[in-house]
This record gives sequence, structure tokens and C-alpha cells, in this order.
Amino acid sequence: MGEQPYFIELTQALEICARTSLELSIEEVELIDSHNRILATDLNSLVNDPPFDNSAMDGFAMRYQDTLNPPTQLQIIGTIQAAGQEDDIVVNPGQAVRIMTGAPMPKGADAILQVELTTTEGGMVTLQKEGMKHFIRRKGENLTKGEISLSAGTFLTPSRVGLCATMGHGKIPVVKKLKVAIISTGDELKQPGKDLSYGEIYESNSFGLAGLVKWLGHEPVRIHSVKDTLDALRQTLNTAANECDIILTSGGVSMGEWDLVRKIMEDEGDIHFWRVKLRPGSPPLFGLWKNTPIFGLPGNPVSSHVVFRMLVGPWIRKITAANGPLEHRAIATLTTPVKSSKDCLTLRRVSIEMSDDGLLAHQNIHQGSGNLASIAFSEGMVVLQPGQKSVVGDKVEVILL
Ligand code: AMP
Ligand code: MG
Repeated sequence: MGEQPYFIELTQALEICARTSLELSIEEVELIDSHNRILATDLNSLVNDPPFDNSAMDGFAMRYQDTLNPPTQLQIIGTIQAAGQEDDIVVNPGQAVRIMTGAPMPKGADAILQVELTTTEGGMVTLQKEGMKHFIRRKGENLTKGEISLSAGTFLTPSRVGLCATMGHGKIPVVKKLKVAIISTGDELKQPGKDLSYGEIYESNSFGLAGLVKWLGHEPVRIHSVKDTLDALRQTLNTAANECDIILTSGGVSMGEWDLVRKIMEDEGDIHFWRVKLRPGSPPLFGLWKNTPIFGLPGNPVSSHVVFRMLVGPWIRKITAANGPLEHRAIATLTTPVKSSKDCLTLRRVSIEMSDDGLLAHQNIHQGSGNLASIAFSEGMVVLQPGQKSVVGDKVEVILL
């Protein structure tokens, strides 16, 4: 390893990763295709929202002065639908207009009463209560034209995509998806769907990691596990470096004779660090292969997932200046004891339940780093500092899964 940082704290590992960045491109996509993408520039509203004063209720519009002594009888002079073609109606004293939710307020009217508080007979309406001024949604009360409503880096969740539409944008400038190669290594790995021979297991990491890459809004490129030889691995890494922006490998980064990712990076790559004080997931490696950032993730399925969440994901968010998708953290009360390993920041997988006293965290599943169920069936990971022992009733920090 020479002088490469070795067995470092997660914070230091994140700092070292942050020294490497990537040039990003921007592309314009149709609004409907902007879900889960990262907004590349500030976006201002092309319109006022709402564009005109309108009714928040189905009911009647009238002059507030006419409604002060309910019940009040007024003459119905017309109907205004949401499309609002009838813009010439004027409400005079003693008159009311039937109005639908979202329809423009007629001239002269300054109050609304919802239909439930009215009765009609012939051409007359009886109001049981005073008209309500707060049932008028005012022009521009949500957004004013020209206002910057979403800033560059915003992760486009469904409601934010809706907001882009409200603001009038049909096309959205987004950060071009990063292509992330996912290479699984290990001669024992078989593709799911095929029969296993003795000694083989199903390859699972690349599927989970592909989902995590998509979750961040980028494009996974899964590459079938290569044979465990240096030549095969070299070739695969070269292809990945040519075609992708980032390389993730899984497996082969520990101390063993057959840990070829570590070996080839030592001999032919550029290692920025190896091993992080993180459990599960201590063996990761980060560096460059032919100028392409590469993370060597551990082979154990839970470890590869955890290292992505704690190291790869935060780095990708950082280099894309993305403010999402968010990692949600919370405080929970332990209902079972949990302890960390001596040297490492430790993440214990727990189920989480709501109670009258807030969240409860319960460690009830075998914590082996090969046991993918321990993360698949958990709602959170308790964050424990090295050496921390927590007992029932302690409040702990959890990362919500
Ligand atoms: P390694 O880091 O290569 O020593 O692998 C550690 C453990 O994880 C071994 O039991 C491997 O069989 C297993 N493993 C490695 N890669 C994968 C993978 N892509 N999917 C599922 N299990 C894996
Ligand atoms: Mg292996």
C-alpha cells in the first residue's frame, strides 16, 4: 500500500473522495421524463400561481356586504365553470353567481359560500352563513411570475415535477445521468435464474447496487461477473473506464490471495485509500482506474449495500451538487441492547416502530454481513460510534432505510 491512507475513519474517506470530481453535462428532457433527475439550473416561474383570483370551493360568489345577517336570500344570475369563459358577469347588490372550484371570481364579488351551506329554490339561493373571504385564492399567492422557485441541484421528486408544470415549464434542464459500471467479481457467482452447481451462489450485489444507482437518478451498467483472473479483470475495467463515468466493483478487495481488485489496483491503478473503519463494510477501496473514479466495494451483500449508502451515495450527491434523495435520520429508543465493534463506526439493522413515546428500534435479526435479509427486512440502521454499547431505553441515531 505504500503511503496510501489505510483503515481510515469514514469522515476522512469522504474527504478524500471529495477531492475527486467529474465534469457534468446538462441535457434538456421532457417534463414527464424529469422524475428522479437533478435540476441543472435555477428555474423561475413563468406565471403567477394562481394566475387569477379564483374560488377555493364549489358554491356561490357574492358581495360580502350582502351576507352580514344570515339567512340571506340572493338572486342567482349565472354560473362560472373552472374554464372561466364567462368573464363578463358582474355581481351587483342582491345577486349571487354559482361558482365551481378553481373558477375565476366574477367582478363585484368578494366572498364565497360553499354549496353545503346554501339552499336553492327557483332562481334564488339562501345563504345560511356569512360569505367567506378566505375561500378566494388570490392571484400569485403561491408563486409570483419570475420568482425562482426551484434551485439548481434540486432532486426532482413527484411534487417538484408537478411544481415545474405549475410554473409553465414543458422541458427541464437536468444533469446528464452518470453512467455507473457495476462489475461483480467471483468465480462462485451464478446469475439468478440458472441452476447452481456445488460451491456456487447467486450473484446479488449488482442488482441491489443497480437499484441504488437508479435511486440517485443515474444509470447503472451491470457487467457480468468476470473470471477471477487479472487479465479478465483488467479487460473489464478498461472497457468500463471507456464507457462509464464511475466504476463500482464488488468483491475481491480484502486481504486474500484471490482478492484481485485490490491486487490490480495496487499494481496498475491509483489507490486513494483502502479500508474504512466501518462495519459492516470495512474493506472498501477508492481510487482511479485510467482516470475513472473506482470504488472497490466488499463482496458481502450487506457490506456492499452499506458502503454504497455511506460512501458512494454521499460522494455522488456531492459531485452532482444534488440535494436529494435525502438520507433521513431520526432518534429512536432502543428496545434491545446494541453494541458496536471496537474500532469501527457500526451500523446495526433494526426494525422501527411508532409508539406514543416516539420511534422504537428493535434489533431482532441475525446481523451477519452475508445476511441480506438483515437489511431487506429492516427499517433502519442504528449508528454506533466505535466501542459504543447501548442498552434498552437509550436514545440512538438511526438512518431510515
Ligand atoms: P469477497 O469480498 O470477494 O471475499 O466476497 C465476500 C463474500 O461475499 C463471499 O462469500 C462471496 O461469495 C460473497 N459475494 C461476493 N460477491 C458477491 C455478489 N456479487 N453477490 C453475492 N455475494 C457475493
Ligand atoms: Mg470474491
